Amino acid sequence: MREEVIENKKLKTEPNLRDYKKICETFSWKLAEKEVAWFPNKKINIAYNAVDKHVKTWRKNKVALRWIGKNWSPDNPKKETRDYTFLELSLLSNRFANILKKLKIKKGDKCFLFLPRVPELYTSFLGIVKAGAVAGTMFAAFGPCGLKDRLQNSGAKILITNGELKKRIYKIENDLPDLKYVIITDGKTESGHRFAEIDYRKEMNEASEKFNVKKMKPDDHAFMLYTSGSTGKPKGVIHSHKAILVEHMTSKWVLDIKDGDVYWCTADPGWVTGVAYTIFGPWSNGATEVVYEGRFDPEIWYSIIEKYKVSVWYTAPTAIRMLKKAGDVYKKYDLSSLRHLCSVGEPLNPEPIRWGLRAFGLPFHDNWWQTETGGILIANYPCLPIKLGSMGKPIPGVTVGIVDDNGNEMPTGKVGNLAIRPNWPSMMKEIWKRPKKYKSYFKKNWFITGDLAMKDKDDYIWFIGRADDLINTSGERVGPFEVESALIEHPAVIESGVIGKPDPLRGEIIKAFVILKENYKADKKLENDIKLFVKRRLAGHAYPREIEFVKALPKTKSGKIARRILKAKELGLKIGDVSTIENY
Ligand code: AMP
Repeated sequence: MREEVIENKKLKTEPNLRDYKKICETFSWKLAEKEVAWFPNKKINIAYNAVDKHVKTWRKNKVALRWIGKNWSPDNPKKETRDYTFLELSLLSNRFANILKKLKIKKGDKCFLFLPRVPELYTSFLGIVKAGAVAGTMFAAFGPCGLKDRLQNSGAKILITNGELKKRIYKIENDLPDLKYVIITDGKTESGHRFAEIDYRKEMNEASEKFNVKKMKPDDHAFMLYTSGSTGKPKGVIHSHKAILVEHMTSKWVLDIKDGDVYWCTADPGWVTGVAYTIFGPWSNGATEVVYEGRFDPEIWYSIIEKYKVSVWYTAPTAIRMLKKAGDVYKKYDLSSLRHLCSVGEPLNPEPIRWGLRAFGLPFHDNWWQTETGGILIANYPCLPIKLGSMGKPIPGVTVGIVDDNGNEMPTGKVGNLAIRPNWPSMMKEIWKRPKKYKSYFKKNWFITGDLAMKDKDDYIWFIGRADDLINTSGERVGPFEVESALIEHPAVIESGVIGKPDPLRGEIIKAFVILKENYKADKKLENDIKLFVKRRLAGHAYPREIEFVKALPKTKSGKIARRILKAKELGLKIGDVSTIENY
């Protein structure tokens, strides 16, 4: 392997964060406990840590959230922007927690958010967690199938949404017996549904600004997100209040958040990054954050950085590749406020890093984690040289191993399963209602991540690929099984096999091999119709951009679709062992 190493000379990390080796030697999670806020008797609340603790300090009137609406434009920047101080976030979330109290929401009850990136998403999320309930998030792009899987499995009692999105819930309401209330943030409520609709604005006006934040045990549940597996329905990953330890420390170590920073994480809270590194870690460090409601657009993104003087920027490889594709646009903007760039979600190849250096004079620092880990676990640190293409090194307090399929550690330089020594503070607590699935993650005192990786002689970790069939398209994790399930609901489809196909822009795209029923003609019109069908049912990102009509699919003798064979054929690779495969 040809190694290319660079250093970020512009970044001035605090002296006590500079010596990675020394921190690793001296650090323990006991020390991190001193950096977050506790109630008496070792009780804690992760949302209190994010916001309320600052209200007792000089940060009380500091801007915490600088919200930028989807219709924002650089020519009219005052339109569609709103600032919220830590005090305002605290009081608004108190009001929301009081609404939940009135609705008799108890500790552990699941309350889900189905909203675009509007301020109510953030204040309600905080309110839910302050009330001791469990906050769940869902992308606004989800269609009825994606929503049903999540709301049904979680047994959500409350859903917070808007007048536009609620129509998708009407389509599945008969399948959601646990859903008692739907809170509508922006308009009129209706009656005649299985649940009661509640007017958010009216209730918020009436609710008290005072709320006694629930004092929780560190292991009590705080938030949950659904993530795809290679088989079965999406899994409900539950996290606890003590996840703040990892999220707080990594926001410091990896994102290098300081009081003077304006921080922008481009992730939506439907994905764990938009929760842990918008709502929890950076706010816990007192950051001023930018949240942009709109979609990706190079001109708008650069305008936001210029106008609001973003200094720390946390984004994803697909976005970086798309910015690169937009060419020299960045030259029109003054982006000199940027001082630290980070990336997560998919492999960050060397070329986008080199481009970042050309465009911003700064390298993107790749880091690795997943929904289940609750926080960044492997990172390129501001203080360490970057080996281009590597994910960096483990965070202090965490042990990373490369193990074989039996859980035995492998020698340096060998590819194996990326594994973590269990019980770091933000390790998932449960896969909701699937204890066997939860157990299946652990082998010989290792947590097996599902990724393949290699460790080099300097302890840098290199991502090799997924050990399963999971697809990573534009940073979103999609299980082939969900897409196949949606495909076969289309009247023309008998069976399908779905794979991730490498793509220069999106990392991977979803490709489906489809067998049609006899009386259907394989043409462009039908292809587009099937794509739209899946997009509407699952989510905007989870549909096959490519469809190939086939007469048969390779299967294992036990009848499972052999996606490995489909993929090998698609990529022109060796097919490997076919002793158990039919129809290949
Ligand atoms: P999710 O739980 O949706 O965030 O997906 C987590 C998965 O995304 C990981 O298990 C990896 O497969 C992939 N991933 C996350 N960060 C990186 C990274 N820095 N490099 C390569 N793959 C990554």
